[in-house]
Amino acid sequence: MPYRLFLGKKGERGYKQVGRKFKAKCIECKKEFEYVLHSWDEKAHLYCSEICECRKMKRDNELYIKKKIEDTIPKKYRNLKTDRTELLTKCMGTNLYIYGKCGTGKSIFIANLAMQYLINGYAIRWIETLEFFQKM
Ligand SMILES: [Zn+2]
Repeated sequence: MPYRLFLGKKGERGYKQVGRKFKAKCIECKKEFEYVLHSWDEKAHLYCSEICECRKMKRDNELYIKKKIEDTIPKKYRNLKTDRTELLTKCMGTNLYIYGKCGTGKSIFIANLAMQYLINGYAIRWIETLEFFQKM
């Protein structure tokens, strides 16, 4: 049976064989499972099923977005919801100039819009008014 050297997790060395049955533990649900390698360059299986792989990827993505939100949006706005949610999707991809009296929810709306961008995979930068005018 053909085999070749590969580098596994954390640089551990070993041999894997095409057609050989392997036992593994799913890194998502911890269930033991068996799989067969079909080619030399196939990676070791980490998940028992596509469902577990999707679940892990979804959770990793959620953690990634949560981290992006924490890194970008000021803490005081992170958990506040705008009462103008219907405008969020409409405003995506447009240029905005928002004005109004103090305490009418402009910053909360912008924070919600910024989060919407982050969730959709965009990068954003939060700049306070003073910094914005200093850079002009
Ligand atoms: Zn699993």
